[in-house]
Amino acid sequence: MRLFLNNRRGTLYRMKNTSDYKKLLLKEKARIEGELTGIAHKNPEIKGDWEPSAPDLNNPTADPNDVADSIEEFEGNAAVEVELEARLMEIDAALTRIELGTYGLCRVCKEEIEEARLRANPAAVTCIAHREG
Ligand SMILES: [Zn+2]
Repeated sequence: MRLFLNNRRGTLYRMKNTSDYKKLLLKEKARIEGELTGIAHKNPEIKGDWEPSAPDLNNPTADPNDVADSIEEFEGNAAVEVELEARLMEIDAALTRIELGTYGLCRVCKEEIEEARLRANPAAVTCIAHREG
């Protein structure tokens, strides 16, 4: 593990202690996986992929209103599932950067990402100036 990095100003600084961020990331990852488990199941074919759990529409005695509710719920779950899965990928990518020793550097300018920004979003990939959206 590299302890020192050269930034563009040529100054040497001690790499930030990433263990706090790693804890935050792992905590959020566990929370998201918990939420996903409620509305989706892991795709056995693709590692890290989740699929929204489909409602049981094969019940011949089901009330059409119930079926409509189920479909609506399924569509809602599918939208949430996509969002949670995207967030999970961001978190995994951040955890990988911690392992590689490149965590906390802006993807655009390669400068350090502000600590406040990482506190708010430990999976951030850019500094405040290069934040998208
Ligand atoms: Zn930047």
